[in-house]
Amino acid sequence: MELIDELRSIVGHNGVLDAATLSERSAGFMRTDKLQAMLLVRPANTEEVSRVMRSCHRRGIPVVAQGGLTGLVHGADAGPGEVILSLERMRGIGQIDSVQRTAVVQAGVTLQALQEAVEAQDLAFPLDLGARGSATLGGIAATNAGGNRVLRYGMAREMILGLEVVLADGTVVSAMNHLLKNNTGYDLKHWFIGSEGTLGVITRLVLRLRERPKSQDVALVGAPSFEAVTQLLKHMDASLGGKLSAFEVMWPDFYHLVTTPPAKGLPPLSSEHAFYVLIESQGADAVVDTACFADALGAAMDRQWVADAVIAQSQAERHALWALRDDVGQVMNGGAPVVFDISLPLSRMQSYTQQLGQSLRCGIGEHKLWLFGHLGDGNLHVIVQVKPQDYMRLRPRVETLVYQPLAEIGGSVSAEHGIGLEKRPWLSVSRSHTEIELMRRLRAALDPCGMLNAGKLMGREPAAS
Ligand code: ZN
Repeated sequence: MELIDELRSIVGHNGVLDAATLSERSAGFMRTDKLQAMLLVRPANTEEVSRVMRSCHRRGIPVVAQGGLTGLVHGADAGPGEVILSLERMRGIGQIDSVQRTAVVQAGVTLQALQEAVEAQDLAFPLDLGARGSATLGGIAATNAGGNRVLRYGMAREMILGLEVVLADGTVVSAMNHLLKNNTGYDLKHWFIGSEGTLGVITRLVLRLRERPKSQDVALVGAPSFEAVTQLLKHMDASLGGKLSAFEVMWPDFYHLVTTPPAKGLPPLSSEHAFYVLIESQGADAVVDTACFADALGAAMDRQWVADAVIAQSQAERHALWALRDDVGQVMNGGAPVVFDISLPLSRMQSYTQQLGQSLRCGIGEHKLWLFGHLGDGNLHVIVQVKPQDYMRLRPRVETLVYQPLAEIGGSVSAEHGIGLEKRPWLSVSRSHTEIELMRRLRAALDPCGMLNAGKLMGREPAAS
């Protein structure tokens, strides 16, 4: 039987898109190109995923699993010789257990759909990021996504209790643990979380939920120096007794970008500050927490770590402040952005950013540089915008200027976006030869023919024997 007929016999006629049809779909967020593949197959459940994988495995056809396509490192790109396995029909939210505080979901559920479903039961799934409406929980797990509240709740890894995975040969591994503590040998789920689809296809997840916060206080403040920003982080964390849930820093050029047309946001603070910080606290008592938040900011002003501040007074104002921070799409206007998500020790961040500004000015000529990030996590987003016609020529030089200094200061080439195809040449800045070899051996053990998301993360080379 032809592959397309066999796959249609598993997932139904409409479950398979041919090359011509799938090429009408966008390749993803901040991409201008279209999807490419031999076929796109859309199974509806784990059994179908397993049968699709078995079928492709038998024929030696490589498979790329895709979620919401909001990744930024070409981690789910496919080629004309590959089959895309999209989890888009696997959108079932199963049991939400309010006592155990867990939710069971299929991998294609979007982050926002889960957030809304658990909030309706007075619970919360606290992982949050700008792409919440499209990003799927399978993709979030496969890339160990971070986002805006890592400071308080950790990365995706910390919120996943169990997984179900289909291996390259179709074997279903069910590790659907519901327990917070389960210390019985290798924690297999962690092999797959952050493996970028190279070890297996995540089909279902058990997620850890929290009680829904009853208060949310958000402020945007202007700070006079980087030193003041780092003091402010320590001060707010200490003053809020564990309630600090986000500490997002914007350098002035980024603040200007998201508060000037064509951006829709209006500037809540004047443009003279050296840094802008969005601070969020979540707690259990709206009256007490709001007073505590305002007191902590007042004390920070007395110590001159904060020069000016606006505190959101309504849900609409809280949304508006977060919308500024999330309006990263503005970097697409007027040029081609090269996007980075590095992390480095806070003590080195100021000198790193100053040196980077200088080396870009000397090294690539005309460009725009925007800096912002989850400073509480040491995670800095660097965006360098160049003219579209210069993009291919300048990109390697920009990467060198951003990544090379990180090796010496113990930084990471990816704090949260992952490696994909894009950062593969730079993996060794952050991981040792021995670590990379061990990753290859693990991969060879699970997917000996290299059929899953081939070429991503550490490339196609066979494992060391
Ligand atoms: Zn981020």
